[in-house]
Amino acid sequence: MLPSTRCMLQHSLRRLAPHDRSKTIGFIGLGAMGKEMANNLLSKTLAANPDPAVTFVVHDTFEQSITRFLTANTSLYPNRNILAASSPAGIAKLSGTIVTMLPSSPQVKSVYTEENGILDGLESYCSASADDIQAKTLCIDCTTLDPKVAVETATTIKSANAHSAFDMIDAPVSGGVVGANAGTLSFMVGSNSSTSFATAEPYLAMMGSRAIHCGKNGNGLIAKIANNLLLGISMLGVTEAMLLGTAHGLPPKVLAGIINTSTGKCWSSEVNNPCPGALEGTKYSPPADRDYEGGFAARLMAKDLKLAMNTAKLEGVPTPLGQLTSSIYEALGGNEEYGGKDFGVAFKALSAALGREEFKGGREEV
Ligand code: NAD
Repeated sequence: MLPSTRCMLQHSLRRLAPHDRSKTIGFIGLGAMGKEMANNLLSKTLAANPDPAVTFVVHDTFEQSITRFLTANTSLYPNRNILAASSPAGIAKLSGTIVTMLPSSPQVKSVYTEENGILDGLESYCSASADDIQAKTLCIDCTTLDPKVAVETATTIKSANAHSAFDMIDAPVSGGVVGANAGTLSFMVGSNSSTSFATAEPYLAMMGSRAIHCGKNGNGLIAKIANNLLLGISMLGVTEAMLLGTAHGLPPKVLAGIINTSTGKCWSSEVNNPCPGALEGTKYSPPADRDYEGGFAARLMAKDLKLAMNTAKLEGVPTPLGQLTSSIYEALGGNEEYGGKDFGVAFKALSAALGREEFKGGREEV
């Protein structure tokens, strides 16, 4: 028997109160971000609510992630209901609040609207129960995905119940794995309904320190994608500036110190400087100092920049720098050595090309 199934049975036997969907939180996607967010959501929910009916159900396609989550948390909270479901439909049958944290658009489509997805679970719950209050479900999707897919998926979920019992909002995050672990994420929320935003806020507050209602469904994602477009461009800018200075003999710490007290300062120079050693002696410890391990992967930046380019095209927004940045991150993201490393790895890749003849040439008089 799988450990998750065993836990589920043990907890079903232990349950003291009848199951209550309104007191059940489902979480799908226990990856780098999701497992930290789920840990915070679970621990803070249980701390705030001693009610034995409170239940937390998780699902992921990677069985080991479920086992790790259940093993750690059922020993921390032995008398509480912490379960696993074998599909998103199983999560939806049990939970009045569902948080999803998935890689991108294809996985969100699959988890919400394909076979054994959330929609199937909601429909099957409603066909078995006439209780509109218990059917009430809010899905909070924290994935960074195509805003168009997010809006289409939310429309499908909402229109599945004639009594408006279902809603889905987009709530992508900024703050990375460190922010997810510390519970200090920023949520950018797209929700047609201010009531749904207000319902989501207490849950978001357990995983983050800020939630901003950006307007209608999809707007949270537009904000997130615009931010990451700028982040990708600024990281390449800092990379080139640090490379130019250090190639001419400036010590990384001296150059970073100057940039960070001058007009070039940005997050990529001050907190996540891509040049190893540049932030030595400061309070920051960027992935560059650990061979780019443990940050925001270049392949995720490549994905976000592609989303930005697609989103820009919809309104005919000119993005010359974005296109160049996107093509550079597409190459880095698809590279076996660099794809899984922090996106500051652009510095390492460009350093490898340093001094090549094709980049040399006569100086222009200016
Ligand atoms: P990840 O790949 O580590 O985690 C994704 C999880 O989803 C995995 O556990 C995977 O097994 C699970 N999954 C995939 N398909 C599934 C399915 N069909 N059903 C159930 N589970 C499924 O990714 P991550 O780093 O946690 O990122 C998640 C999202 O957050 C992405 O959209 C990413 O762009 C965004 N994000 C990431 C960071 C970061 O620093 N990693 C920062 C901000 C935003």
